[in-house]
Amino acid sequence: MIQTDIIIVGAGPVGLFTVFEAGLMKLKCHLIDVIPQAGGQLTEIYPKKPIYDIPGFPSILAGQLVNNLLKQAEPFHPGFTLGERAETIEKQEDGNFIVTTSEGTEHMAPTVIIAGGLGSFEPRKPKIDSLSHFEKKGVEYMVREPKNFIGKKLFISGGGDSALDWAIYFAENHSIPVGLVHRTDMFRGHKDSVEKIYDLQKKGEIELFTHAEVIDLKGENQLEQIVVKQKDKNAIEINVDYWFPLFGLSPKLGPIANWGLEIEKNAIKVDNTLDYQTNIPGVFAIGDVNTYPGKLKLILCGFHEATLAVQTAYKIIYPNKRFTMKYTTVQGIQGFEPDSVKV
Ligand SMILES: Cc1cc2nc3c(=O)[nH]c(=O)nc-3n(C[C@H](O)[C@H](O)[C@H](O)COP(=O)(O)OP(=O)(O)OC[C@H]3O[C@@H](n4cnc5c(N)ncnc54)[C@H](O)[C@@H]3O)c2cc1C
Repeated sequence: MIQTDIIIVGAGPVGLFTVFEAGLMKLKCHLIDVIPQAGGQLTEIYPKKPIYDIPGFPSILAGQLVNNLLKQAEPFHPGFTLGERAETIEKQEDGNFIVTTSEGTEHMAPTVIIAGGLGSFEPRKPKIDSLSHFEKKGVEYMVREPKNFIGKKLFISGGGDSALDWAIYFAENHSIPVGLVHRTDMFRGHKDSVEKIYDLQKKGEIELFTHAEVIDLKGENQLEQIVVKQKDKNAIEINVDYWFPLFGLSPKLGPIANWGLEIEKNAIKVDNTLDYQTNIPGVFAIGDVNTYPGKLKLILCGFHEATLAVQTAYKIIYPNKRFTMKYTTVQGIQGFEPDSVKV
């Protein structure tokens, strides 16, 4: 059993920053994430994209922000259970919660902070019979390491930001034209990106197929061809090394949806007038996973929510103590030794 002060479900940017804010109050944290590495959406979806709205950083790559957050949390030695999904929560008579993972790992703490973002990542998949046969054998739902794909014949499907951004990235960093397939000619992505796509098409760096769909995949053990059907034209087979169907992630809360929490539109309702606590006292929800009037799904909003949530967590853990907040410029960063380790 892992024992700690705060169990944090989700090691995305908001979960990671919670460790820092809790650490300033000498509270220990243990993070659980179903993904084998920390960083949430930033690591999984867009590690190489620059973010422009983190205060104090005119521009920072998402992956770099995650590294910085890990470094900032380091003095407080958070524990990690990675690659395991938090499945159940049980309230004990002594007031503690036990959170158990898909692998049966048990964690105990008087407070739980859910920073589960969009929930477990489930890419929206196209309906193609042979799809599962080619997953990770030429079909990829995310671009984790772009340099692995340079010099390869790439096709991307989708009309949102992710599809457009990666098509532009590869067209600009690649000597081979990149294919982009979209089922209409109306793109959901940013207007500037759409203009850029048409520019790159004119330069021959993007092969654009609108009113088109990938309807079949061919190859032996590895993807070799995609079959593209364009409206009013015959289907054609195109040789490819990789095909990225980037149709977004379906927002599924996963097991958290069964924890007895008040849910509204796939998000957990919280009290935003005070501390982002849920309808279960001692359980908080912060970052993309929560909802309240005026909610914005932005990293900096999640950081603010984390800062307020740990104030109440402290009062639950130490009901008879009073914490006086001091600026970090005054008190510095006084870390502590790890003791939320697996036993
Ligand atoms: C392409 C793109 C660009 C973006 N650009 C910006 C931007 O410029 N600025 C900005 O502020 N925001 C941006 N965002 C939004 C930003 O990424 C999110 O607001 C942020 O990731 C939310 O952080 P989080 O920690 O709340 O959740 P997430 O980053 O979603 O992390 C949640 C973690 O919880 C884990 N998890 C969920 N359920 C469980 C469970 N049951 N058990 C274990 N683990 C679980 C998930 O695996 C995940 O790792 C962008 C998003 C995308 C997709």
